[in-house]
Amino acid sequence: MYIPNKIKLMGREIDIINDDLACDIDGHLGQSLLTESKIIYQKLAKGKTLKQDCINVTILHEIIHFMLWVLGYDYNDEKFIERFSELLYQVIQQIDGKNIKK
Ligand SMILES: [Zn+2]
Repeated sequence: MYIPNKIKLMGREIDIINDDLACDIDGHLGQSLLTESKIIYQKLAKGKTLKQDCINVTILHEIIHFMLWVLGYDYNDEKFIERFSELLYQVIQQIDGKNIKK
């Protein structure tokens, strides 16, 4: 999955920033700074390189937080967002034509 430096969502520009130390403190691999229009994600966690699938799902997870927020829905439902981001990633992989088991 291609990871851009920015995405636009309902006219709002959101920066997607890699910071390998930002989220380590609280155990999260990503963070949505809604009012600052920033998504921060890690490629490393406590010194170990994360799998690309994990990074991709984390970024989708954070984007879904933003989507729910701009739509006025509950944007803190971690259980829903976790499952939804996994499903969305499955779809994106198939659209990308990668990782399809035949
Ligand atoms: Zn979350």
